[in-house]
Amino acid sequence: MSWTMSEKRRMIGEVTAGGHLARKKGVPLSVEYVSQVDSTAEDAPIGNGIAENSVGETAAAASAKAPDYPSSLVGTSVVTLDDISTQQIRELLHRAQYIDAHRTTVAHTCDGRVLATLFYEPSTRTRLSFETAMLRLGGQVIGFAGAQLSSVSKGESIADTLKTVSNYVDVVAIRHPKEGAALVASHAASVPVINAGDGGHMHPTQTLADLATLQSRFGRINDLTVGLCGDLTFGRTVHSLIETLCRFGHVRFVLISPDELKTPQYVLDRINATETCSYVEASDLAENIGDLDVLYMTRVQKERFFNEDDYLRLRDTYILDADKMRLAKQDMAVLHPLPRVNEIAVEVDDDPRAAYFEQVKNGMLMRMALESAVIGDVLPGYEPLQRKEVRA
Ligand code: ASP
Repeated sequence: MSWTMSEKRRMIGEVTAGGHLARKKGVPLSVEYVSQVDSTAEDAPIGNGIAENSVGETAAAASAKAPDYPSSLVGTSVVTLDDISTQQIRELLHRAQYIDAHRTTVAHTCDGRVLATLFYEPSTRTRLSFETAMLRLGGQVIGFAGAQLSSVSKGESIADTLKTVSNYVDVVAIRHPKEGAALVASHAASVPVINAGDGGHMHPTQTLADLATLQSRFGRINDLTVGLCGDLTFGRTVHSLIETLCRFGHVRFVLISPDELKTPQYVLDRINATETCSYVEASDLAENIGDLDVLYMTRVQKERFFNEDDYLRLRDTYILDADKMRLAKQDMAVLHPLPRVNEIAVEVDDDPRAAYFEQVKNGMLMRMALESAVIGDVLPGYEPLQRKEVRA
């Protein structure tokens, strides 16, 4: 039996984040994720992938089939960036650049539209970023921040909440502590749902912010050596970023973490299945920093630990400071999805290589691009990248 890519995405699998430490919130939802490689690389063919996915196909066999990406982003839910094509990701980057340069022109693009932000888990910047994005496009926002403020405290299911909220709004951004929640939400909703982070799994709009930052720093998003440092087990932004960079190909990953917080196997499988990408695992930041074009620092994800002692023991494993920055390349970019705890000393903020506050701005622009695109609102004066490329 053959499966379409989206059917495979919806199949029962197992969430694999967190093999080493007991997980605090690991109870899966009724729908779980395909954990193994789900090869969809259009730009970077997965020539000799040998990993088997949940339906027993090799990655190479899966990649031989045409991916079933939507032809347009209108009405599309984004649970992971695997839901859209690399061309559509490029289009979003282009769209965000246009928005940045034409803030007043686009200020009424989403007049009359409403975004719901359903945040079952604490967030400051991501929720405010989604909301500001809609407000800056002329739309309005409803929602809640914290499950105790919603009907979930009365026992309502995610599906029922989404079926209800779909009647009110044009697009939903959802954050939830459990992996798979955004997928459940997207099945129940009749409007596009954007995953704003589901447990230790994925955070696609953070990845869009990361890509925009790489694009602006390097003029490209591949042919880079990317170091990821810190909590690579529970850090969903790391998983999303690796997944997406593999699709563009030509990236060397240096995965720097303590033994207990190593990258989950399903993410490593993704790299292994990508011919033009490779990785090494390491534990020492100072030893490796000199090789990197990009250093992606992450905090240890306290909320996903069972055991406070484990968290306290691991939280300060890596602290990037001016001394370590002296060992790095002159044009290395330091990224961090924020919030920072201790892992980057404040003295690094003034270093021109610190790109993490740029990332915040890029996050808002990319969310403006995505929200307007999935609703289907046309940015006045905007010329799509594809049309431009064809004409050039
Ligand atoms: N803000 C990011 C997230 O929601 C990173 C973090 O919380 O450490 O995953």
